[in-house]
Amino acid sequence: MTGDQLPPIKGFIETSLLDWPGQVCAVIFLPYCNLRCPYCHNHRLVLEPDTLETIPLESILDRLSPFKDWVDGLCITGGEPTMHRGLPALLGKIHEAGFKTKIDTNGTQPDILRHLISEQLVDCVAMDVKGPLDDAMYARCAGVYVPVSIIKESIQVLMSAEVPHVFRCTVTPGLLSEEDIRLLAEQLKALRTEAGSADRAAPPLTLQNFNPADPMESDLKKVKPLTNEALLSMQQGVNRILD
Ligand code: SF4
Repeated sequence: MTGDQLPPIKGFIETSLLDWPGQVCAVIFLPYCNLRCPYCHNHRLVLEPDTLETIPLESILDRLSPFKDWVDGLCITGGEPTMHRGLPALLGKIHEAGFKTKIDTNGTQPDILRHLISEQLVDCVAMDVKGPLDDAMYARCAGVYVPVSIIKESIQVLMSAEVPHVFRCTVTPGLLSEEDIRLLAEQLKALRTEAGSADRAAPPLTLQNFNPADPMESDLKKVKPLTNEALLSMQQGVNRILD
């Protein structure tokens, strides 16, 4: 595939108020991922994308065109969008159509992230951080070995950039404890201090609850998500460390 070929789009949501905080966006889903997070609820996109219909970008942009005044942008999620060499071309076409762009990424491709930011192809980035920045812990949460040096590099790329960004972490009981989350928050704080971005206003780590409906690892269906109160309390603990 050359860099000009657009990635296949395997899903589309016309309107979302949740995927881009403070913005109304549409969401498009790209296939494939280099991780195998046991809790992944998009595993069909990751493991069996050929069973999903491919949606032409033109039909999506035509569909959104009448709503330009109130749809702020498109969120590109997956799967892992940075797996696709055609991602820059896709983001460029979305900009040409008059929409802002956000990507959701697992942060395993810092060079691509750097390129997208320096070429001003992306207006917002949400990076999922899978757990504390330790090789063994990370492998457990990501389902495959990932050198955390790569994840740290992506975090530093975002912390040093002007582009709005947020870090997110899915809290799956049994995989991550409250202590693990506290450790991750401390590690992010240290990286933020190194990057000299301690006064940034954006909330630096948003916790998400585990969804047991259809996880990649089917044994996790038996795991109970945290109560809203427990998740909120954990989030407040994170905020106290990072605020
Ligand atoms: S949850 Fe993990 S496996 Fe699923 S798309 Fe995201 S990074 Fe990939």
